[in-house]
Amino acid sequence: MTGNTKLSLSTSSKKTKEVPLSSLFGKKIPKYLAQLEKANLRTVDDILWVFPYRFERIPKLNTFNFASVDSKFIGLGKIYHREKKFGKTKTRFGSGSLQNLTLRVFDLLANSNDTIELTFFNLYPSQIKKLTDAETIAFFGEVGLFNGKKQIVNPEVLALNPEEEFIDKLKFKEEGLRAVYPTINKVKPDDIKRTLDLIPSRCWDEVKDIVPSETLKKFNLLKLSEALKVMHGKGDQNLFELAKKSLIFHEFFIEQTKLLVRRSIIRSKKVREYKFSDDVVKKAFSLFKFELTEDQKKTLGEIFNDLSKNYSMMRLVQGDVGSGKTALAISASFALARVGAQVAFMCPTEALAIQHFESFKDALDTQGIRCELLTGSIKGKKRKLLLEELKEGKISVLIGTHALIVDDVKFKNLVLTIIDEQHKFGVDQRLRLTSKSTTEHCLIMTATPIPRSLALSQYGDLDVSIIKSMPSNRKGIKSRIVTNENFQNFLNFINTRITLGEQAFVVVPAIEESESLDIQNLNLALSNFKSYFPQLKIEGLHGKMKNDEKYSVVDSFSKNNCHIIVATSVVEVGINIPNASVMAVLNPERFGLSSLHQLRGRVGRGDKPGFFFLVVDKAISKVAMDRLKIIESTTDGFIIAEEDLKIRGEGDLLGKAQSGIDQQKRVADLAKDGDILIQVKAEVDQLFSDNRQFVSNAYEAFESDPLVRLTI
Ligand code: ADP
Ligand code: MG
Repeated sequence: MTGNTKLSLSTSSKKTKEVPLSSLFGKKIPKYLAQLEKANLRTVDDILWVFPYRFERIPKLNTFNFASVDSKFIGLGKIYHREKKFGKTKTRFGSGSLQNLTLRVFDLLANSNDTIELTFFNLYPSQIKKLTDAETIAFFGEVGLFNGKKQIVNPEVLALNPEEEFIDKLKFKEEGLRAVYPTINKVKPDDIKRTLDLIPSRCWDEVKDIVPSETLKKFNLLKLSEALKVMHGKGDQNLFELAKKSLIFHEFFIEQTKLLVRRSIIRSKKVREYKFSDDVVKKAFSLFKFELTEDQKKTLGEIFNDLSKNYSMMRLVQGDVGSGKTALAISASFALARVGAQVAFMCPTEALAIQHFESFKDALDTQGIRCELLTGSIKGKKRKLLLEELKEGKISVLIGTHALIVDDVKFKNLVLTIIDEQHKFGVDQRLRLTSKSTTEHCLIMTATPIPRSLALSQYGDLDVSIIKSMPSNRKGIKSRIVTNENFQNFLNFINTRITLGEQAFVVVPAIEESESLDIQNLNLALSNFKSYFPQLKIEGLHGKMKNDEKYSVVDSFSKNNCHIIVATSVVEVGINIPNASVMAVLNPERFGLSSLHQLRGRVGRGDKPGFFFLVVDKAISKVAMDRLKIIESTTDGFIIAEEDLKIRGEGDLLGKAQSGIDQQKRVADLAKDGDILIQVKAEVDQLFSDNRQFVSNAYEAFESDPLVRLTI
């Protein structure tokens, strides 16, 4: 059913991405287009990237004696028997029960007594009526046996009472492959296919291809339009593997090109340059009691260099938990505050904000730089006053949570936005904060080491600093899996460390779906640990506690008035208690590897060694155990991230919040195709710097693309 005479694409020269799907239909626009639109499929270009998940072999129309059991069959039948039965389920709309229907049919094509039984389950009354009213039926499905008779369950109805013309067409159709599409936002696979089939062939040929032909030749790839055709079963199927490989390349290529266009647009926007005096720089490097590590110094140098440029800084600092990223944020804030600029520092939780606020004050109070805290629990008069002072520029550094994004939070001269633990935020939230800034300098910090392929794909437009060296005073962390056999040893060990004056975290997995279960779970662990250690002071901490309660728990822990905190994974993001040397994670199999690695970073931060226990309390699969063994055997965050990427895929690794940005791959899989991405990146970089025609094509194609338009 290709081609469509009703179609009036007055837009033959338009790029496919500007042709709305509705223009494929005549006056009668099907309702499901609205559903597709909600799934971000609006144009021809969008739907071309929805691929079949498999191909089905469609046989030729044949007589019933060719219907062999377990294979697909297309037949033409005359209905001679109809039988209804009540189905099990009721309709949700109460418009009557669903029914099952059995039709028995004779072979219309052959002069024989062969019959087939067609059984439909759970039909709506209207469907029942249509089928029972019909005399003849063209059907398709897989043949089975029921009570020794040939039967097709839930056959696909190709036509009821088909006319001569239809039958003739069916008779002459050769066997072939049919694409089977996924269901998207409740839109049925057949409707997706129908929409794709309506795209006129010239439109397929006009798909804008941004990859230069020399590049295609160099890498031996198909043009985008050709690759798309093959993938949809509309080209030479022998080229299928090549088409797939080509599409992966095209997909990465388009993405990387967009990121470069975006970067180049941002760079072309001129902003004020900040050059600091030698005194300020010197002081910034020596604000702390400790000496910065080499990587910290290098990164701080890069940050100052960025600020001295006349375009916005877009830098990502990647460094394991405890590598000292916050110190850099403090140093950068110091220098900017010295020249009258303001800095906003946003982090994902209140407990963390409070802690960072303390660290900032520790370092900056004595320098006469005013830092303030703004979180959701700061309200009323206090908040009002704070906002006024902020607007007047009396506050230099504002530290806080999402509360910073709210519209009435206005700065006098916000120059730098720092986003801590950025993987915890959606892109949206990041943008709303940076848009308050006059210069849009942005420093993003993440403790999730990201495999190179993923980093390129997610942050290809950012400059990246990596802090690998840990402060040298660290004594390292030992990790152990605890099972029933060594559980008692584990308890004894905790007891010993606490006798030595150290403290411990016990972490319980959060149950996202249910807050009450979550708290129940925590309380159970809490009472268990209280019974193991009746002589110790043990407190609970979870995300749903009131802020002052949380604060008082963290405070008493940080003053060593409490020996053990039993917490849900809220501690994951950043509580810094150098005296805590032990962390035990209960049911560690329920965490991602990267999360475990981050949790581990909470201990061993002081001058004492850290101990990390993965407490498994029931039989877990070998795969799950092998994953935990990775944590046990390495502390290299990058190795762990690579493993996590292999196990969980990109979406999960970046966290749910990240899905705000439409960067999900459609054919490419970063865990498998990372090498291709690295090739693509090199190629795009080179084209972007040497090939003016390419740059101008890239601008034309992507200048107004939503991804490019995001102002970091
Ligand atoms: P991150 O944010 O990267 O997880 P932090 O900045 O919170 O790490 O630093 C963790 C701890 O290490 C803090 O107590 C901090 O004061 C300390 N620290 C940071 N840099 C150094 C350093 N160069 N030498 C010693 N201690 C450091
Ligand atoms: Mg941190």
